[in-house]
Amino acid sequence: MAKLDVLVLAGDGIGPEVTTEALKVLELACKRGSISLELSHDLFGGCSIDAHGEPITQAVLDRSRKADAVLLGACGGPKWDNLATDKRPEKGLLRLREHMEVYANLRPAKLFKALADASPLKAERAAGFDFVVVRELVGGLYFGKPRYVQGEPGKRVGANTMTYTEAEIVRIGRVGFETARRRKKKLCSVDKANVLEVMGLWRDVMVQLGKEYPDVALCHLYVDNAAMQLILRPTDFDVLVMENMFGDILSDLSAAATGSIGLLPSAALGDKLALYEPIHGSAPDIAGQNKANPLAAIMTIAMLLEHTAKRSDLAAAVNAAVEDVLDAGVRTGDIAKRGEPVVGTREMGEAALKAVAKRLG
Ligand code: NAD
Repeated sequence: MAKLDVLVLAGDGIGPEVTTEALKVLELACKRGSISLELSHDLFGGCSIDAHGEPITQAVLDRSRKADAVLLGACGGPKWDNLATDKRPEKGLLRLREHMEVYANLRPAKLFKALADASPLKAERAAGFDFVVVRELVGGLYFGKPRYVQGEPGKRVGANTMTYTEAEIVRIGRVGFETARRRKKKLCSVDKANVLEVMGLWRDVMVQLGKEYPDVALCHLYVDNAAMQLILRPTDFDVLVMENMFGDILSDLSAAATGSIGLLPSAALGDKLALYEPIHGSAPDIAGQNKANPLAAIMTIAMLLEHTAKRSDLAAAVNAAVEDVLDAGVRTGDIAKRGEPVVGTREMGEAALKAVAKRLG
């Protein structure tokens, strides 16, 4: 029997609430899929600061490299907002990503048919869009050196540096091409080759790499144009691959186009390790009130089943079950239209679990 060893870091705020619902789905999918699932839990974020004085301990970092996958809930909250930047819960997340060397962030963005009204984009433009942003996660402008603010007040200079080696571009490029291969075989590489030398290199490497993937249609867009085109014609995109900061911005723009942050899963993949998390934060405004939408966390389970367990059959069943629930009109507050009846986190989780059970027979 296949084995799956998952380290669960539910975190703060709504993290534990949505993770509880997501784990019920994972347990069921593994049972039906003959996978022997082993779960272990640990502290992460604010709760780890309270217990150990730091957002993630070395012991948890060590465990993260031994598990087949790490599942995160969310971290942070007002209680820890006044700590110094390097002591805050979010710092734990950056340390974890770096430690696990997860360089490829996959963020699917999809407008569900049942929620077409939730998108701020007009239905005739947006109906049915379904694409994946592949963001480089451990290089580029956020990590390049030198980085500094120096000089006397009034004459200070600040600098950050965007650097990429060919090897770094190739490894993220491959994730883009491979992801496209599993979908509609269209890859859009986003760069700023008209202004930045490093992005000229990016384009050059992508063009070369494209020769190894003749079955994938490769196109290129400058990042400013990509932002416009994603809003003007989102249905034309399949997979987009890009630099770290470009991906940070365009994946949030894509998230907004879907209508709710409570519907977006993500995976951060390295050569061996994988970290899965819904993209939303700890939502302190609704934490502990049974109001959070658990569907992002549940679709995150689908990504785990696909990429780590290599069970696209189970992943497809979970994603289809989420659509079933939405088609049936079950709504948490974030996706309900005015006047529509609203269910809580547990009830939405229950509905999704039933739908998964039905899908898996
Ligand atoms: P947030 O994502 O927590 O919340 C933004 C808004 O979306 C809130 O109104 C919230 O109620 C709503 N929302 C979020 N998830 C939802 C869900 N599943 N269902 C329904 N509504 C949902 O972002 P924020 O308010 O900017 O940040 C709150 C805390 O979370 C901060 O401490 C921040 O640093 C942290 N944060 C953590 C992560 C992470 O753990 N990966 C990501 C973003 C923010």
